[in-house]
Amino acid sequence: MTYQHILIAVDLTEDCHPVIERAQSLARANNAKLSLVHIVEPMAMAFGGDVPMDLSMLQQQQFEQARERLDTFASRYPELQPDQRHLAYGQPRQEIHRLAAEQRCDLVVVGSHGRHGLALLLGSTANDLLHGAPCDVLAVRLKKAE
Ligand code: AMP
Repeated sequence: MTYQHILIAVDLTEDCHPVIERAQSLARANNAKLSLVHIVEPMAMAFGGDVPMDLSMLQQQQFEQARERLDTFASRYPELQPDQRHLAYGQPRQEIHRLAAEQRCDLVVVGSHGRHGLALLLGSTANDLLHGAPCDVLAVRLKKAE
């Protein structure tokens, strides 16, 4: 069995470059298509869901900045053209699963940790993604976790 469409989930930290490189080599070996996704998490989530003010303007700015960061991040990789870069808003597991199903991806590649740091051996997003995934999930072990 070969993979046909590989989705790479990135938190846009420098740690994610080895994740992209692993996905690229898998894509070459399988002759698969590559896509990249970053999820912008609602600000209210970061504050525990209870914020007594209107965050919509800030969230719009947050989304626009994330688009620029995603484009800068992906511009290092000629295989990841603008139509292969996806930005979504919401809870990472839910949005990554939704996009993987919508784009008919058969593999999602993530880092073993990211922003949630080294306190968790397997980052919470990577761990979360395994539950109810619509396809295979590969967690690339990142050096700092060793
Ligand atoms: P973490 O749970 O933050 O330790 O992250 C583990 C891995 O999940 C990262 O290396 C990324 O591959 C992926 N990831 C984390 N946050 C996001 C996000 N907001 N959007 C897409 N992928 C993410």
